[in-house]
Amino acid sequence: MNAPLALIDTHAHVQFDAYDKDRAETLMRAHAAGVEAIVLVGTDPTSNSAAIALAERHDWLYASVGIHPHDAANFGPDHHALREQAAHPRVVALGEMGLDYYRMLAPRPAQFAAFEAQLELAAELLLPVVIHARQAADDALAVLTRWAAASPDRTNAAPLGVLHCFEGDLDLALRYVEMGFFISIPGPVTYPNAAERRAVARGLPLEAMVVETDCPYLTPQGHRGQRNEPAYLVETVREIAKLRNEPAEAIAAATTANACRLFALSPADTAGKRAP
Ligand SMILES: [Zn+2]
Ligand SMILES: [Zn+2]
Repeated sequence: MNAPLALIDTHAHVQFDAYDKDRAETLMRAHAAGVEAIVLVGTDPTSNSAAIALAERHDWLYASVGIHPHDAANFGPDHHALREQAAHPRVVALGEMGLDYYRMLAPRPAQFAAFEAQLELAAELLLPVVIHARQAADDALAVLTRWAAASPDRTNAAPLGVLHCFEGDLDLALRYVEMGFFISIPGPVTYPNAAERRAVARGLPLEAMVVETDCPYLTPQGHRGQRNEPAYLVETVREIAKLRNEPAEAIAAATTANACRLFALSPADTAGKRAP
């Protein structure tokens, strides 16, 4: 058997209660499948704390803390709690944050306020941002263009961040890349009818690409209908390789190096020596 591809899942929610019954086994399967690091992304104060707690117990897990647009209405002007969580040594990014007009679980003004406040905090702390933008492409682009322009040193000092589960077309992806963002490709790139996602995976410069599961959501085609988990990331990477007509090893190596750069993970952290 070939050695597994060395991968980094840049966006997973293994701290969610969907894994309460088999979290240790889930992490073992991820590790056995070649996943060498996972960024556990928080969505509210509780899941942020859970992400940090899990990352404290496993040196190959990292946390990102933020307020999801779904929870924006509960995010007051006082963000001391988030600032405190962001200062934790296992925290490598701020988010997920952004705009979601698809489910619209918080009113637009609340979504904007929470998004802008977190961007400001990220600029101050020099942390990369994890962006969730769903059916809000124009507004997200406007906000992030302004923010990137106001952060002239960021692209050199530290990457701006990542558009997670990117859902736009290739033109929009390339605009974000030009601004200094990474684009994250999720499991739905494996769906036969996902023409736009496939076009993005094909046309995106490899140096701007990272991969994610967003588990427990967005299960790749081969496991569709089941709960998603980091071990399935390999299916996404193999599909991207097929679409680009490149070896899966090249996609794995590039996306892993990119994830290290994006979140300032040291390669020693992901040298494949970690046990769950
Ligand atoms: Zn999201
Ligand atoms: Zn997510």
